[in-house]
Amino acid sequence: MKQEKNLLFICQHCGLPQSVTEYIVNDYLINPNVKGYYCSNEDCLQMNLLSVTDKRKLIELVCGTAN
Ligand SMILES: [Zn+2]
Repeated sequence: MKQEKNLLFICQHCGLPQSVTEYIVNDYLINPNVKGYYCSNEDCLQMNLLSVTDKRKLIELVCGTAN
């Protein structure tokens, strides 16, 4: 059974912590055309840009290439 990993990020715009799930990374962030993720705070909903390096780090964290 696979355990879902939750990664916490601080929104660059409103400063609230965001939970980025493995599902979001695998289905969304892994796409090279995606430049970041949207804040889930309804008063914010802004795009948090991620650099190529940041995205690679996220994908590595979630996909567990370290193991
Ligand atoms: Zn925000």
